[in-house]
Amino acid sequence: MIIKPKTRGFICTTAHPEGCAVHVQEQIDYIKSKGSINGPKKVLVIGASTGYGLASRIAAAFGSGAATIGIFFEKPASEAKTASAGWYNTAAFDKKAKEAGLYSRNINGDAFSDEIKNKTIDIIKKDLGKVDMVVYSLASPRRTHPKTGVTHNSVIKPTGNPYTNKTIDFHSGVVSEVTIQPASEDEIKDTVAVMGGEDWEMWIQALKSAGVLENGFKTVAFSYIGPKLTHAIYTNGTIGKAKEHLENSSKAITAQLKEVHGKAYVSVNKALVTQASSAIPVVPLYISILYKIMKEKGLHEGCIEQASRLFAERLYSDSLELDSEGRIRIDDWEMRGDVQEGIVPAWEKITTENIHSLSDLEGYRSDFFKLFGFGFKEINYENDISPIVEIPGVE
Ligand code: NAD
Repeated sequence: MIIKPKTRGFICTTAHPEGCAVHVQEQIDYIKSKGSINGPKKVLVIGASTGYGLASRIAAAFGSGAATIGIFFEKPASEAKTASAGWYNTAAFDKKAKEAGLYSRNINGDAFSDEIKNKTIDIIKKDLGKVDMVVYSLASPRRTHPKTGVTHNSVIKPTGNPYTNKTIDFHSGVVSEVTIQPASEDEIKDTVAVMGGEDWEMWIQALKSAGVLENGFKTVAFSYIGPKLTHAIYTNGTIGKAKEHLENSSKAITAQLKEVHGKAYVSVNKALVTQASSAIPVVPLYISILYKIMKEKGLHEGCIEQASRLFAERLYSDSLELDSEGRIRIDDWEMRGDVQEGIVPAWEKITTENIHSLSDLEGYRSDFFKLFGFGFKEINYENDISPIVEIPGVE
């Protein structure tokens, strides 16, 4: 098969196995270049195949020599259709981890279900005994609740009032105005059910009851705050309500972890191009402007640079500074005064005509296609290759 990108809205329906492998290798090389981290040794990553979860898994394995179990929801290939990018990423990670002598196990299934939780616990008991870290990095449009059987769908909407602002179609570069109607009470509740902290709490509770948490255990989940410009659609919107819930869950989990001297953290991360963030209106335009400013200042980071700082300079450093709300901040460079000062004037002026001079739309697009293994100079995209790639032993 000759594999080219095929996009539908903000998703790409194809992925390139060799390109995804290069993308993973670049992240492994980056982590190795930063030297070893005195970090965790037995790590469970929930949402391990793309974005922040994959970068965290790479940081744990190749920075700290950790054994990792990765959970994800991805599609394998058929003769006629490529696998999803996260499948190829995991195949590449697994191969490199095993070549480096690192334990790697993979579970493809619905992390919200009791079945996957039980399966994971069995594997931990059999292979690792206990885990000393859990990274919780799910981004999902829906969740079937394991107790009620109800499927909740998340929405990205403002709350209270309609919200009007600029947005971009990042494929065509057309800047337009979008008005988004506020979410109903049910939509807010559903989004909190999907992206809030209930499932994180259920995971840690299940792992604790099974006696598989190491003394000094740590767990981390990810949040975002961002500037005032995006507050209506993010922080004060449905997703922000879910993140508020996630923060409360971190406190509830920490309270449950006393016996093992454990702690749950929320890390506030930088806005980045991932499959999840490209689905949010307004945010891709903000990210394009942000990329330009941060690159000019030499402050630009991707998921792997963020994961590297999270592990080496925050979670496993000698002194961990938290903000007034008890959160880890690795959005510190994004939120720096001199970075944010540049955003607002560009935002006010930006149009379809001046998009390339005021933003790094090319950088946004290039990162988007890299998520699916496209745009790597090492790869000849005219080659006829098999889309079928195995993840040995995947459950
Ligand atoms: P992503 O889409 O790249 O990754 C999501 C992961 O979740 C994938 O591994 C996917 O397979 C897995 N997944 C989804 N549904 C699943 C299910 N039912 N069962 C098992 N696995 C499932 O997303 P991301 O952007 O890396 O987001 C991860 C976290 O980071 C989210 O909490 C997000 O809000 C947060 N975050 C993202 C940004 C950003 O700009 N991208 C910024 C700050 C915080």
